[in-house]
Amino acid sequence: MDHRNNKNSHNSLYQSIRAMPKVELHRHLEGTLRLETLAEIAHEHKIELPGYDTETIRPLVQITDDDQAHSQAYLSKFAVLRGFYQSREIIERVAYEAVADAASENTIYFEMRFTPLALTKVRDFRMDDAADWVIDMVEQASREYGIDVRLIMSMNRHESVEIGQAIMEIAVDRQDRGVVGLDLAGNEADFPGVDFEPIFRKARESGLGMTIHAGEWAGPESIRLAIDVLGASRLGHGVRIIEDPDLLQETRERGIVYEVCPTSNIQSGVYGSYEQHPLKAMYQAGLLTTINTDNTSVSALNLTDELVRTVEQIGLSIDDVKQNILHAARAAFLTPGERECLIGRLTAEFAPDTHISPQ
Ligand SMILES: [Zn+2]
Repeated sequence: MDHRNNKNSHNSLYQSIRAMPKVELHRHLEGTLRLETLAEIAHEHKIELPGYDTETIRPLVQITDDDQAHSQAYLSKFAVLRGFYQSREIIERVAYEAVADAASENTIYFEMRFTPLALTKVRDFRMDDAADWVIDMVEQASREYGIDVRLIMSMNRHESVEIGQAIMEIAVDRQDRGVVGLDLAGNEADFPGVDFEPIFRKARESGLGMTIHAGEWAGPESIRLAIDVLGASRLGHGVRIIEDPDLLQETRERGIVYEVCPTSNIQSGVYGSYEQHPLKAMYQAGLLTTINTDNTSVSALNLTDELVRTVEQIGLSIDDVKQNILHAARAAFLTPGERECLIGRLTAEFAPDTHISPQ
């Protein structure tokens, strides 16, 4: 994992958050690749790039100080990354490394999402094959590293409903192998996603969890559609709920969960700075916020970095961070028994001398 931009890796706040047991619900495999691995793949497969060292590759796949804070700059990195999935071994390797890296910073429960189409396009692999490669490798890595990992499959609203239907069927068929949810991502401003309603209804009826990217690059109307039409219980981002106090209250009462990714929002231009980011206001309003990275390598951070920033730059306390981790555990796409077990582990570690009863 690359920490070039992390100035805080040796301070005590960083160390205490790194040691804390953590939960992450929103991270994309396609934005979670080690730079060193990308350099090796590029060299081995002679991917058309200006050079094969990490510093040449970095600005092509990672946000740097030279990038404008805009969704186009953010998304342009994924366009380059799609060219790296040249073999089964590469897909297996990046899935394995993503799990290893999460475990190395004491993430104990991790829901990783991946987009089968993104992994298969360049080589025309079958999406079900690619899904199986990811599933098998994640299972192996999670066993080796002692981390509980579940998978969410993503589809893009700017791609066809037929592709979405195929991805949903692949996910439904693999529920006994750690696939727990379905996600709608992509361009929400121009493609609201209403056509995906039958796909998400079928997935919900089959027992998959529903998380939908909404209220990031479009406003509260996109959140309304995600929860009322598409049936999301969790929102990817959802930060623009802050623009609609009535809907905010409604989602609080309905227990909608927010997968907030502050750095991603700043890099893609949704907010100008951490100080302007609404995470703290959302949390203080009683929303079920969780804190996530979205894409660790694109953003040049890990979950520890992101949690440190929420303390140092957004103004959460350490207790607030722990509450957000508990929110994430309560929102995990697990069975009730598994969820209680996870919450019990966290509360025991967060307050070893007291007994906090899980709500
Ligand atoms: Zn996302």
